Amino acid sequence: QCVSVCPTGALTVKSEIDKVWNAIHDPDKIVVAQIAPAVRVALGEEFGLNAGEDVTGKIVAGLKLIGVGRVFDTLFTADMTTIEEANELLVRLEKNENLPIFTSCCPAWVKYCEQFHADLLPNVSSCRSPQQMFGSVVKKYYAKKLNKRPEDVFVLSIMPCVAKKFEAQRPEFTTGGVPDVDAVLTTVEIAQMFKEASIDFTALPNKAFDNPLGVGSGAALIFGASGGVMESVVRYVSGLTGGDEVGRIDFLPVRGMEGIKKAYVKAGGKILKLAVVNGLANTEKLISMLKSGEASFDAIEVMSCPGGCVGGGGQPEVNDTVARTRRAGEIYEMDRVQQLHKPQDNYFVVKAFEEWFGGVNNHETHHALHTTYVPRRRINGKPFIMNDSQSQRLQ
Ligand code: SF4
Repeated sequence: QCVSVCPTGALTVKSEIDKVWNAIHDPDKIVVAQIAPAVRVALGEEFGLNAGEDVTGKIVAGLKLIGVGRVFDTLFTADMTTIEEANELLVRLEKNENLPIFTSCCPAWVKYCEQFHADLLPNVSSCRSPQQMFGSVVKKYYAKKLNKRPEDVFVLSIMPCVAKKFEAQRPEFTTGGVPDVDAVLTTVEIAQMFKEASIDFTALPNKAFDNPLGVGSGAALIFGASGGVMESVVRYVSGLTGGDEVGRIDFLPVRGMEGIKKAYVKAGGKILKLAVVNGLANTEKLISMLKSGEASFDAIEVMSCPGGCVGGGGQPEVNDTVARTRRAGEIYEMDRVQQLHKPQDNYFVVKAFEEWFGGVNNHETHHALHTTYVPRRRINGKPFIMNDSQSQRLQ
């Protein structure tokens, strides 16, 4: 049985490959898969291809071949995440409360914050991660289109990440005993399934995602690299407010492998101060700077893995810096040739917000697309809140 270890030290978990095979062979179930952005530029390495080679079409083809019923793209709900999170930021800016906003896409960061910085939880975006938004919309809305009960739709996530397995099992993402996401396989594990099925991966013809949950913008694609979530928010907010960055946007200051990146952007007549951090030691440094008053920001993206999800613990060659850099480079190349560059350009996502929720950032979206956090570490019955000297010792 395959075992995965999270590089953040958060988890050691058993693979759910057998559970996925059982669901595929269950005549009462339909398996609906989502593929995260960073997977498509890394999975080829398991079959001898170069790091960073785009194998999106082959992954879709392979999944269809082993019996997955619908193959969708996490990009769809990454676009939803950007729209909800950016609107959350705009409201907080207007009210001048709970700033800076921290991103919530990385479950290892969220858990770390719950354990060691409970005082910052009101600052963490209440948006579910794209993985959990996907599970939620499939079980709550898409299952009805299939005339299926939520328990008969098996949601399979294919992620670069081990912490996503823990995230999928959080009790708040289960309704009436039915989880939103039934199983999470890493990039390496899905390659193992293809090998178990004797699939000649490199010879597979490319196939397209199914619709409607298979369409995503370039802004969602770049979620796979450190800085991508922030750049996506900049594209959305700038497009919305008519700031400097309208149209084709490459927001270069937030890109790259540097541990802490700072950027400024004019949007709606205001200068937004942004920070992007990858790695939890760098996150500690940034939090110390915030708490000491040495720095202040409006929004902060946190990813626990080096370089973001391209360097996730479920990817091949986790410690290979060159591979990580190539994967991120290819993600930005793929974005360049996308038709859609901003989440609000994604017709299917805009339509889904109208049809399912009657708009954005409202009561309905909060029910389906947002979540809550809890302080995890308690001392003498009270939440443990780390002070500066305790933070220092972690570095
Ligand atoms: Fe998972 Fe790492 Fe990406 Fe966080 S940064 S979501 S831990 S792969």
